Amino acid sequence: MAKQLIKRDLFDQVMVPNYSPLDIIPIRGQGSKVWDQHEREYIDFAGGIAVSSLGHCHPKLVEVLKQQGEKIWHLSNVLTNEPALRLAKKLCQKTFAERVFFCNSGGEANEAAFKLARRYAYDHYGDHKHEIISFRQSFHGRTLFTVSVGGQPKYTEGFGPPIEGLTHLPFNDLKTLEQAISGRTCAVVMEPIQGEGGIIPATAAFAKGVRKLCDKHSALLIYDEVQSGAGRSGSLYAYMQMGVTPDILTTAKGIGGGFPFGAMLATQKVADSFIVGTHGSTYGGNPLGCSIAEAVLDIISSKKVLDGVKTKHNRLLKGLGKINNKHKIFDAIRGQGLLLGCVLNKKMQGKSRNVLNAALTQQLLVLVAGPNVIRLAPSLIIPNQDIDDGLEKFELALSEINL
Ligand SMILES: *Cc1c(COP(=O)(O)O)cnc(C)c1O
Repeated sequence: MAKQLIKRDLFDQVMVPNYSPLDIIPIRGQGSKVWDQHEREYIDFAGGIAVSSLGHCHPKLVEVLKQQGEKIWHLSNVLTNEPALRLAKKLCQKTFAERVFFCNSGGEANEAAFKLARRYAYDHYGDHKHEIISFRQSFHGRTLFTVSVGGQPKYTEGFGPPIEGLTHLPFNDLKTLEQAISGRTCAVVMEPIQGEGGIIPATAAFAKGVRKLCDKHSALLIYDEVQSGAGRSGSLYAYMQMGVTPDILTTAKGIGGGFPFGAMLATQKVADSFIVGTHGSTYGGNPLGCSIAEAVLDIISSKKVLDGVKTKHNRLLKGLGKINNKHKIFDAIRGQGLLLGCVLNKKMQGKSRNVLNAALTQQLLVLVAGPNVIRLAPSLIIPNQDIDDGLEKFELALSEINL
C-alpha cells in the first residue's frame, strides 16, 4: 500500500486553532530553498521568521548537531557544560555584555530581562521602582508578562487582569518619554528595529535620547534584539551601529539558526541581582543548543558574512525599487540589513496577506508584518542567484495581484 500523504487539512482536526498555516507542507530545505511534499521548489525570503540565519541545513550546523548529539544533549543547570561556557565567553568578548543567561526563546529571554530589571531596581532603590516603559507596535513575546509589555490589545485581551506598572508610548517620540519617565521607572525596553510592528527602525536621535533619559532617571535600557540581532542588521547586533549601548540585551531567533535558543546579555552590575534561586530554566544553556548557537555565532560574526549582509541588502533594495517603479505598490521600502519591510500604498491597504499568498503561488516564501507591510528576512548568506530568482517571482506575484 502506498504511503499516505499527510495533508494540511489534518491541522484543523488535531491542532489548537491559534495558527492558520499556509497550504503547502515543506519537507526539506537546503540553503535558501525548500521543497514541499510534491517536490515543488520554493525560494525562501522568510527564513522561518528571521530565524534560519544561515539558511536550511547549513553543513557546519548539521555537523555540530550530529557531533554534539552523539556526545551529550542535556544536563540541567545542576551542572554546567563546555559549550555553554565557550558560548558565554564569546558573547562577552564580542558585545558589551559581562554576564549571560541562556534560555530557549525570545519570550523567555525578555521574561528574564524584565524580571532582572525589576529585581535590580528593587535591590538598589526599593519596591516603588518597578515601572517598565515600552513602545507601541512593539513585540516582546507571548508569555503574560512579555505580551503585556508589548501591549498590543489584540494579543492581550481576554487573559485576565493585566500586569501592573507598564506604560506604552509612541515610538520615536522623545517628548512623550520625557514626560512619562520618572524615578519609578525601572526600565525602558525597545526594539532597535521594530519587527512584528512593521519594520520600523528607531531614529538615531530617539535612540540616543532614550539612553540619556534612562541615565537621568536611573532606569535600565533594555534592547530586544530577538529579531534585529545575530547579524541581521549588518552588524552583530543593531546597537553597534547606533552609538548607544544598552544595559540588557535579548537575543534569540537568528542566534540559534533554527534550533530553539535564546540568551539575555547584561552588565555585571545588573546581572548581580539574579542571585542563586531568583530565576532559572530547565533547558536553558543545554549543551546541544549552546554548541549550535556557538557555531552560528562563529559564522555570523565573521566580516565576510556581515559585509555580505550589506551587499545583499543593496541587491534586494535595488531589485525591489525596480519592481516598485513598474508596479507602484509600495509607499516605502524600509529596514536594515536583511530585515526589510515593503509598505503597501493606499490602493493596497490591508492586503499584505494577499501578496503573501500570491508569492506562494509563484513558489516564493515571504512574510507579513501586519496588514500593510510585506516583510523579508532571508538567510544572511542567501546566494545572489536566489535573491534574483526570488525577486523575479515577487514581481510575477505582484503583477497578478495588480490585475
Ligand atoms: C519573535 C520575537 C520575540 C518572541 O520570541 P519567541 O521566540 O517567539 O518567544 C520577542 N521579541 C521580538 C522582537 C521578536 O521578534
